[in-house]
Amino acid sequence: MFSFTKSGVHLCGEEEVGLDCRHENVFISHAHADHAFSSKKSKRVMASDATLDLLKTRGFSLAGERWNNGFQLLRAGHVLGALQLRAELDGCVCTYAPDFKLSDSLTVKGAEMRSCDDLVVDGTFASPEFVFPPRETVYDQIGKWAKANEAAGVITVFGGYALGKAQELVACLNEYAAITPLVSGETAELCRAYLRHGIPLDFLAAESDEGRAALKGAFTAVLPMNRVGRPLASRLKQFYGRKVRTAVATGWALCRPFATDGQFALSDHADSLELKKFVEGTGAKRVYSEKGARLA
Ligand SMILES: [Zn+2]
Repeated sequence: MFSFTKSGVHLCGEEEVGLDCRHENVFISHAHADHAFSSKKSKRVMASDATLDLLKTRGFSLAGERWNNGFQLLRAGHVLGALQLRAELDGCVCTYAPDFKLSDSLTVKGAEMRSCDDLVVDGTFASPEFVFPPRETVYDQIGKWAKANEAAGVITVFGGYALGKAQELVACLNEYAAITPLVSGETAELCRAYLRHGIPLDFLAAESDEGRAALKGAFTAVLPMNRVGRPLASRLKQFYGRKVRTAVATGWALCRPFATDGQFALSDHADSLELKKFVEGTGAKRVYSEKGARLA
């Protein structure tokens, strides 16, 4: 069974496991900062190869030997390497699926769905008003917008989380606009990690010779979301002497305005309909949020 404490969610069996929280036995579902952490105290670590690679790329230091203990690890469909943990304890099947998405994206396949009794899910977009448009439609809108900007000689800057969304944006610009975007810093390192794990992405590092040459034209760039807004647009306009258009790609684009020229509801999380489908598909008897609130 699950227990919910101030330090996080635990799976309580013969050996307790900390789920995305500090513990001597840890399961790290994926490499987003709110689920992973630096710990020199962990003795045993359960995570996918890709998650460990991404964590290393992001500068997290982890101690402990790799461990599985017979737990079932299922694809979560959220970002590269993201997993759910499924375990049978005293006849009760528990699944921990913190951040997941059922539909396939351009960079990861959707979540696997297996039966369980107790389920912990991410409730980020659980509220019924969150129904995302089909991904194909959003990819198409992003591609058309980027192409129109490029044709007009405008610099285009997209903002998205450095891990997951940035790589989706790169893949979308490749496939739907035939554009090779510029990336830099951590985003470039994470794109390289995707390449190492067999996800094809065509991008240019802004610091490379090719990248510097591209900066002289009407380039398209993908940056971390918190850097994209009006101040960046005016700095770029002043520096490069071209018009600049900015946009963000996030599930929150559905419900609030951003200080950008465009906003696209592209999410790596399940919306309320996918969440309902997932809960029904697993047949879970008890459903909890990561904070321990009973959702169903
Ligand atoms: Zn996440």
